[in-house]
Amino acid sequence: MSVSKIYLDNNSTTPCDPRVVDAMLPYFYNHPGNAASRNHPFGWEAEDAVDLGREQVADLIGADPKEIIFTSGATESDNLALKGVFEMYSRKGNHIITLKTEHKAVIDSCHKIEKQGGEVTYLDVKRDGIVDLEMLEAAITDKTILVSVMWANNETGVIQPMKEIADICQKHGVLLFSDATQAVGKIPVKPKEVGVHLMAFTAHKMYGPKGIGALYVSRKKPRVKVTAQIDGGGHERGMRSGTLNVPGIVGFGKAAQLAKAEMTADAERVSALRNKLESALLSQLEEVYVNGSKDERMPHVTNLSFKHVEGEGLMMTFNQNIAVSSGSACTSASLEPSYVLIALGLGDDLAHSSIRFSLGRFTTEEEVDVAIKMLVDGVNHMRALSPIWEMYKEGVDLESVEWTAH
Ligand SMILES: *Cc1c(COP(=O)(O)O)cnc(C)c1O
Repeated sequence: MSVSKIYLDNNSTTPCDPRVVDAMLPYFYNHPGNAASRNHPFGWEAEDAVDLGREQVADLIGADPKEIIFTSGATESDNLALKGVFEMYSRKGNHIITLKTEHKAVIDSCHKIEKQGGEVTYLDVKRDGIVDLEMLEAAITDKTILVSVMWANNETGVIQPMKEIADICQKHGVLLFSDATQAVGKIPVKPKEVGVHLMAFTAHKMYGPKGIGALYVSRKKPRVKVTAQIDGGGHERGMRSGTLNVPGIVGFGKAAQLAKAEMTADAERVSALRNKLESALLSQLEEVYVNGSKDERMPHVTNLSFKHVEGEGLMMTFNQNIAVSSGSACTSASLEPSYVLIALGLGDDLAHSSIRFSLGRFTTEEEVDVAIKMLVDGVNHMRALSPIWEMYKEGVDLESVEWTAH
């Protein structure tokens, strides 16, 4: 990647590690078998490759290979966990607890469940983005079957106290699901040790290929089952039918093996770059705020609000050169502020002025230096053109200004 095109959007997707691609290539042509073909060598080769991939993925998260259900990605894993538990445990209850800051794949699955007679509590988070444990415990009723809390947030990088959450769930006999897509492969994630019973993750957020993900489903203490959402040949112990994506699984396995070996070194290097970026922007610009907890946070992410600068507009000043995400989402008619940042208590203005920087394994110091310069110039440029910024600098109390509508 040249410095004229800098990728700081690794939370959207990561580049595939070249070592992952090398491992996958033979499985497109030289070993084309279907892992379910049990009666010839092509099938056996494919099955062996799937077995190894499953072991590597399981090993990364301290699970038994039998506890890994391969899916098409974390969106499908989220759907399978939530809808699958809701259907499987309907006799026990119909109540699910989750957070307002969850990924859309969780929120929208919960909305569907509500349409089908489920009850869902969407908990507020604290100003730092972290769940209020007392509020969580108070929300549990005798109808609660599942708590769903993401391990790390995709917009802010905020990490939830999974052990404390698991202890509360254990005490009340409630299952715990976590969308750990942003955490797996980057920080140690061990669902069994912590007491998480189901967990979603995906290869393309950890330097593997797109279109392959997994759901961890605990097999012992407790033995958890989910109702299949895709029916067919009964693959994946009946929980997810469909011909296995052999090259994808090989790549996912390789990505998991690399992550396990390199996680500590990667995190150390990338967090130093993240800190350099963040502290340069905070010191060279006025009125910049870090969104979400600075301590309980993924090593590669910083989400910043640049007061009185519209994030989408700021992005346009450098998006030919630097890829980031803004805290606004384009819907059909308007620019909506991020619901995650709103849930943290940010006003619309600060939410609209936010930008997420997510660094990764392939980010270089040179790229960070170039990005700092372009960002500082971009923000200064936008503010120089902004009457609001001028008023702010002149000491006008913007809250008290009476705006006239035209
Ligand atoms: C990216 C992401 C997903 C979706 O994963 P896909 O594999 O693209 O379906 C789900 N949850 C979180 C937290 C994510 O960051």
